[in-house]
Amino acid sequence: MILLNPGPVNLSTRVRNALLRPDMCHREPEFGSLQSAIRGKLLDAYALPEKEYAAVLVAGSGTAAVEAMVTSIIPHDRQALILANGVYGERIAKITEIYKIPHRLLRHDWNAACDLHRLEEELRTQPKVSHVIVVHHETTTGRLNALEDIGRLCTRYDVPLLVDGVSSFGAEELKFTEWNIAACAATANKCLHGVPGTSFIIVRRDQLGKVRRNLYLDLSTYCQLQDQSGTPFTQPVQTFYALNEALDEFGEEGGWPARHAVYAQRMTLVQNGARALGIELLIPAEHTSVVLSAFRLPANLPYQQLHDRLKQRGFVIYAGQGDMTSRIFRVSVMGAITLRDMDRFYQALSQILPD
Ligand SMILES: *Cc1c(COP(=O)(O)O)cnc(C)c1O
Repeated sequence: MILLNPGPVNLSTRVRNALLRPDMCHREPEFGSLQSAIRGKLLDAYALPEKEYAAVLVAGSGTAAVEAMVTSIIPHDRQALILANGVYGERIAKITEIYKIPHRLLRHDWNAACDLHRLEEELRTQPKVSHVIVVHHETTTGRLNALEDIGRLCTRYDVPLLVDGVSSFGAEELKFTEWNIAACAATANKCLHGVPGTSFIIVRRDQLGKVRRNLYLDLSTYCQLQDQSGTPFTQPVQTFYALNEALDEFGEEGGWPARHAVYAQRMTLVQNGARALGIELLIPAEHTSVVLSAFRLPANLPYQQLHDRLKQRGFVIYAGQGDMTSRIFRVSVMGAITLRDMDRFYQALSQILPD
């Protein structure tokens, strides 16, 4: 089965086999070494110095990392400024609501780009705002938010940026210093091609140790113990083996620029194929990530029918969310798949479409 959903992704044989390594206790030094190796490789992915940044590993899906980031950094007497233009931006707002973290929400239509004028106005007039929070690749629509523009504003106004990079880390550019990125949350099982169960936060060390709002997802606790090769809680050991292997594969293949290029090739095939079949992109190609595209459902073809017929032919696609459920379908190109799989996907799609 070829998974064209935005994670979990198809595994390479190499990563799958890594799951079969010997049993290990998370309180033994071998585990500490494995954990330190992974943390180092995660920083290497964007050439970040260990003195200034830390990679912190937490058990859970990408949302666990986002929740740890959002709850562990915003000072008690300040506000977060959230930019939302999709499900994942709104999820960040929901996290701040649940934890009663003061925040301002710049809500946008799911089809819209982030409004930089409104952002600048907020940064100019709201001194209580301590951090801006934004989703890099908004998986709801496939939009790659203009992190460069947002980050440059955050640099100009000296407000650090927290990024949900769950579906971009490893495949899109992230300039931590220039864009004032103080933390970025991501996961093992999307662009890094690991297995689900481990997620992580890259965090600037100067952000840690100031607030604590929860027990299990406190970034500072994790970081402090992981710096000593320890862990506050049991970690999913086998997923660590797999992530370590996936990071070696990632590095050997040429890191994020190489992965970006491979995804771009795959996505071009998917988008060209869709166009040839008269299927329209939801948002213009130049605003779409290389990771995932959202397409308008063809007339007279309900999502479930399209999904089921593609699944019969060996492909899993992804539904839209919210009120887009009945209007779009999504195709992601992450994972250990090939250009031939993309060709076969096009063939399958062209057999299914009503004339
Ligand atoms: C996948 C994803 C998440 C995390 O979702 P989980 O179901 O917890 O893995 C968060 N943000 C974005 C942008 C995502 O694509």
